[in-house]
Amino acid sequence: MDFSLSPALAALRATVRSFVDEHVIPNEAKVIAEDRELRYDTLRALQKRARDADLWVPHLPVERGGKGLGIMGMCVLFREMGRSPVGAKCFNCDAPDQGNMDLLLLAASQAQQDRWLQPLCDATMTSAFCLTEPAPGAGADPTNLRTRAVRDGDEWVIDGHKWYSTGAGAAGVLLVVARTSDDPKSGATIFIVPRDAKGVVHVRDFATMGDELLQHREAELRFEGVRVGDDAVLSKVGDGFRLAQARLVPARLTHCMRWLGLADRALSLCREYLATRVAFGKTLAHHQMLQRMLAENARDIHAGNLMTFHCAWMIERGEHKEARAYSSMAKNHVAKTLCKVLDDAIQIHGGLGYSEDAPFSTWYRSARAARIADGPDEVHDMVVARDWMMGRVELLV
Ligand SMILES: Cc1cc2nc3c(=O)[nH]c(=O)nc-3n(C[C@H](O)[C@H](O)[C@H](O)COP(=O)(O)OP(=O)(O)OC[C@H]3O[C@@H](n4cnc5c(N)ncnc54)[C@H](O)[C@@H]3O)c2cc1C
Repeated sequence: MDFSLSPALAALRATVRSFVDEHVIPNEAKVIAEDRELRYDTLRALQKRARDADLWVPHLPVERGGKGLGIMGMCVLFREMGRSPVGAKCFNCDAPDQGNMDLLLLAASQAQQDRWLQPLCDATMTSAFCLTEPAPGAGADPTNLRTRAVRDGDEWVIDGHKWYSTGAGAAGVLLVVARTSDDPKSGATIFIVPRDAKGVVHVRDFATMGDELLQHREAELRFEGVRVGDDAVLSKVGDGFRLAQARLVPARLTHCMRWLGLADRALSLCREYLATRVAFGKTLAHHQMLQRMLAENARDIHAGNLMTFHCAWMIERGEHKEARAYSSMAKNHVAKTLCKVLDDAIQIHGGLGYSEDAPFSTWYRSARAARIADGPDEVHDMVVARDWMMGRVELLV
């Protein structure tokens, strides 16, 4: 097993790291403050700088403006970008656009790609993925799907109610999962719906525990007799559940990569306080209970890193189905690790950690969603347990 990176990828990683350190982190507070006023001057300037530095959408194929690095390359670079909560957006590698771009690359026709994918690659448009519905509709169990698309002449008519369509309020295009039959396996279809189509109602952006940040604004939508043609069907009718899985496995891994970057930064930020703050006659770094906290978090970040790399390696080899349980393990582990690291960073910094003078409490509020979004912990555990019982999970790889 060789864990070294190719010289080209190692150099690219160093370039992205310096870009984040020199340009993104110093401007982080400004990007966030402007975003509250829905202004994006600093973000746009950073995006232009990333493009000029040839660091734009590096994972996408060359013909779409990227470097064709694939998922292993994503692992290496997305961790670096994730060190800032606004980092991935500067390189156009943030959720949900990044996962939606990957899905369109995988399944969209040439005409669909020209119309919808290219503007996303250029960041002249944003997108949302609309699967989840308020109870009793699709949630942890997507087969509860209630949004329906019914054939009427040459068209499809979509009716339904969605929420947690991240970024849908400002999006130009929506990938909408709708029921087209009652077959448990082939009952769903994904439709590419223009956000301004007649009958798409943006009910509200609703407040959550996490701060609204850039595209991470949670929208509730209603689809009231929305009419689309066959050219809106992604791949083919009945392919919706399969495609949603095809999107979610790599997409949850790219979440892991960005979360690992933030966890690593949070732990690094603890170093100075531990080394300088004195309590009971010695610096905090000399207190064994805090040493243990650090060691556990370092271990968990490292383990999450290896799990993420291993699963990415499987996907790169085309072992998508086999990778599913490993992606569930990685997602659960890294989501919990991020929450634990941030909680401990607050603890280590005491009152300062709990205050908004330090970044940890804000980061923690958003990070808590990691254990729910893209499938809650328990559902991933269910997948791992099931696949393990069926002998599909080799633990001593
Ligand atoms: C910040 C954020 C962003 C999101 N972005 C998007 C998006 O862009 N697009 C989109 O479509 N969705 C999005 N989601 C929705 C997310 O995928 C769902 O919230 C998630 O799948 C859970 O569904 P639910 O909320 O309906 O929970 P429910 O289905 O009501 O489940 C509630 C709880 O029940 C438990 N549970 C469920 N099943 C089991 C089981 N088998 N065994 C044991 N316990 C179980 C779990 O603890 C779960 O948290 C987002 C969510 C969040 C928090």
